[in-house]
Amino acid sequence: MRPIFPNYQLASGWNALLPPRQAHASLKGKQVADVVVIGAGFTGLACARRWQDLQPDARVVVIDASEIGEGNPGRNSGFLLEIALAEDANPENMLRMLEANRLTQTAMQSILSNVQASGLDVDLQRVGTYRAAASSAGLASLNNYKQFLEGAGLPYRQLDQAQLNAELGTDFYQSGLYSPHCYLAQPAAVIRAIHSQLADSITVFENTPALKINSSGAKWVVTTAEGELTCSKLVLANNSFAKEQGVARSRLAAVYTYAAITPQLDPEFLDSLGTVQNWGLLPTHRLGSTLRRTADGRLLVRSGHSYEAELSGSKVTALLQDRLWRRFPQLKSNGGGKGAGQEKRFEHVWGGAVGVTYNAAPVWGEREPGLFISSGCNGGGTVKGTLLGNALAELALGNSALDVSAIFGSPSWMPPDPLRRIGFEFSAALESWQGRREL
Ligand SMILES: Cc1cc2nc3c(=O)[nH]c(=O)nc-3n(C[C@H](O)[C@H](O)[C@H](O)COP(=O)(O)OP(=O)(O)OC[C@H]3O[C@@H](n4cnc5c(N)ncnc54)[C@H](O)[C@@H]3O)c2cc1C
Repeated sequence: MRPIFPNYQLASGWNALLPPRQAHASLKGKQVADVVVIGAGFTGLACARRWQDLQPDARVVVIDASEIGEGNPGRNSGFLLEIALAEDANPENMLRMLEANRLTQTAMQSILSNVQASGLDVDLQRVGTYRAAASSAGLASLNNYKQFLEGAGLPYRQLDQAQLNAELGTDFYQSGLYSPHCYLAQPAAVIRAIHSQLADSITVFENTPALKINSSGAKWVVTTAEGELTCSKLVLANNSFAKEQGVARSRLAAVYTYAAITPQLDPEFLDSLGTVQNWGLLPTHRLGSTLRRTADGRLLVRSGHSYEAELSGSKVTALLQDRLWRRFPQLKSNGGGKGAGQEKRFEHVWGGAVGVTYNAAPVWGEREPGLFISSGCNGGGTVKGTLLGNALAELALGNSALDVSAIFGSPSWMPPDPLRRIGFEFSAALESWQGRREL
């Protein structure tokens, strides 16, 4: 049976690298609020914050199934893109793309100001991002992205295999593009920093999964394990898990993907890698792998996918180890020392659920009177989620709102299971085979 809220098998590696933090209490008993936001991620926290700015007297309550930093927003690869995602990049619709880029940059600024005000060390640096292709399958989409960058007048550098090898220390890729419009960060630290900047008047309950939502007259009631919240307006910012509350079932799916980070590698080994010391690389193929070399000398790999359920830890570790070794074969003899078990070669391995829609357009807006949703940012919702969460508060409070569907599109219908699962598994198998050299 698929989970109705995230309950991961493995702890977030990013959060494990941070000092422990005291979580807010969970909800016990019945309470009343003006608005309840389900999900303390990039979307939910942006929405709660904007709500309180626009309506300072409102009682805003945020609940999360997990803890800030440990849950999904602290499990990503830490890319904060200032421009449209590859999935959104459509060189044939440049006006729309330019507007998406402008809005994304504004949302990034709000993350930056939160981080700065928090005073926390989140390792946030504007080091740009590489996109690279290892085969003809990846080269076609790299070319599409290049057209988008050119059409939008955005700077980039094109790199061949030798240049990529010199900068990153891997000859796995044939060709790549470097774009400066991306920040890299420690994502668990970023979400902690954003949370630390919420007004004290906003109440946050952690370890409080919403189990059920119901409308009751003009009110909404959220049932949790040990309590109940009644509110006039309810915001679903819990990504793909919104469908477990019966909302947008035909539009949203949860696809799990996985990441692992090495221990700090020894300086001699790091010197043998490329000249750039803090970098991130995104795949050009939909099922490809993300890579990072962190400022503190670790390598991160994100790869693999599964539909609506997590793979076992041992399977994920073996898959990620293979993906990293394909790119850095020299690690085989260096990573964990001779004879070390595979699990020892990574310091942390974890998974996370991505809220996916068929055409990458978000599920956004008012679904029923008083019930709002922003979800389905696919693989890139840190900045986009911030933008859409902010805009959702504006919509709910009757301020002029963004035309989200005109800019980001409307999510397509997907058939129910078992057809959906069969479709996912068939297309994942086909695409993995076609793009096998990119994996
Ligand atoms: C391994 C991995 C790598 C990724 N890398 C990147 C990246 O580098 N850059 C990028 O932009 N994006 C990346 N993503 C995607 C990114 O994490 C999401 O798009 C982003 O977190 C979406 O933000 P959100 O706030 O909308 O949803 P989420 O981050 O999913 O937050 C939803 C919150 O809702 C809570 N929740 C869920 N159900 C319930 C419930 N029933 N009751 C209460 N709370 C609930 C969850 O605990 C969670 O805290 C990655 C994802 C994964 C898994």
